[in-house]
Amino acid sequence: MWYKRRTFKMVNDLGRFTVNVHTIPGAATQREWPSENRPRDLNESARQVTKFKALTRRNLDSISQYGNVSDDDLFAMKVVSAVLPFRTNSYVIENLIDWDRVPDDPVYRLVFPQRGMLEEGDFRRIADLMVQDATPQEIDRAAADIRTKLNPHPAGQREFNIPREEGETLEGLQHKYRETILFFPSQGQTCHAYCTFCFRWAQFVGEKELKISSKDAVNLHRYIAAHPKISDILFTGGDPMIMKTRVMEGYMRALIDDPALAHVQNIRIGTKALTFWPHRFVNDEDADDLLRLMEDLVRAGRHVAIMAHFNHWQEMRTEVVQEAIRRIRSTGAVIRSQAPLLANINNDPDIWARMWREQVRQGVIPYYMFVERDTGPKQYFELPLVRCWEVFQGAIQQVSGLSRTVRGPSMSATPGKVEVLGVQEVAGERVIVLRFLQGRDPDWCARPFFARYDPKATWLDQLEPAFGEDKFFFEDGLRAFTA
Ligand SMILES: *Cc1c(COP(=O)(O)O)cnc(C)c1O
Ligand code: SF4
Repeated sequence: MWYKRRTFKMVNDLGRFTVNVHTIPGAATQREWPSENRPRDLNESARQVTKFKALTRRNLDSISQYGNVSDDDLFAMKVVSAVLPFRTNSYVIENLIDWDRVPDDPVYRLVFPQRGMLEEGDFRRIADLMVQDATPQEIDRAAADIRTKLNPHPAGQREFNIPREEGETLEGLQHKYRETILFFPSQGQTCHAYCTFCFRWAQFVGEKELKISSKDAVNLHRYIAAHPKISDILFTGGDPMIMKTRVMEGYMRALIDDPALAHVQNIRIGTKALTFWPHRFVNDEDADDLLRLMEDLVRAGRHVAIMAHFNHWQEMRTEVVQEAIRRIRSTGAVIRSQAPLLANINNDPDIWARMWREQVRQGVIPYYMFVERDTGPKQYFELPLVRCWEVFQGAIQQVSGLSRTVRGPSMSATPGKVEVLGVQEVAGERVIVLRFLQGRDPDWCARPFFARYDPKATWLDQLEPAFGEDKFFFEDGLRAFTA
């Protein structure tokens, strides 16, 4: 035996749990993740395989076996889920929700539809149809009508970001910032569970013309080969981790095998599987193959980043998620975390501080705090920009520099990613200070600019320039992109 196993109890932010620690005599630098074998140090309880079982609108009634949900709440969920996509699974329900805190539990609100997610009139419209025993077709028609009002593609996603080559649009690709391409593999357009706030909701409701996707690895590779400035690719969805490893191989291997694609140095995968189905990295049939793929990309000299989506520290408390994090890290991939700030879920500096501390302890690097996007059930989740900054400022002061890699609160708006730096008084005027983290024009980045103080504004387009100016510095330039 080349290692000794020690087990001890430790207490941290998430309470008391057991960890296994391995001491490797005289071999501190030995690789922990042997490609050829399963890791030898599996935490047994993380190995308990639960089968993936989805809960959707169709079997919503079975929720009663987990906890007390009133008839009114259940009815409200049926109404809301007629309009907004709903899907969760047994792992989330059994492990991440404190059922004695329902309906206030944050993860419960993150996955189960709540009445406030629809506007009152829209809610009544569907509720009345259901009470009157309308046909599913009638309900669907009304639901589709309501959805069109919910801004399914915010920030010019469809108009301005999908590249065109020789007059042909390349579905499944978005290329907004010079160095980074977003790819939406068609097999990854769903998730292990859906977040109730999700701005990708239009992709889940089965309205074909609303989808952005591509079947074609060939198109992707051809586009990359033709654009030598692309250094980063971000696989996104839905959730790319919903794909079988063998499908991911089809998209990713070429990035290291084909010299024409070698300029892509950084491979990111945006996922919420660490929260919604960590078994993907531990117990699924092809989990080891996935880790081997990541390790191969790393060995070929690429930076592999799992862009993990965590909304609340409660999502990090199971042994299997901690095992998944450990296994991913042992491939040489890094995990960076990002999440939107949401009313009713994580609108509290202490929640963020505790989450970042826990992430840093487990080796996850805090990356972005987002402002909730202007789409879907936004009135339930949105917060004024000024409040977003207060939460950020209240959280960041509680953590050490290792957590201060996080940037935000950041809006992914039409001109770019805009960070709210804070509220300040400048020359006798109260202003909101902002800057671009990413711009359609790279030269916009890192230039502070000022908006008139507005305690109600929730998005960039509601802000006015400060100091009596008639436009923001980027507006003329933006017109050139969107004309
Ligand atoms: C956030 C984002 C990126 C990545 O930006 P980074 O600053 O490199 O994290 C790329 N494309 C789009 C459209 C984005 O919104
Ligand atoms: S996991 Fe991501 S894409 Fe899927 S529902 Fe949640 S936010 Fe949307």
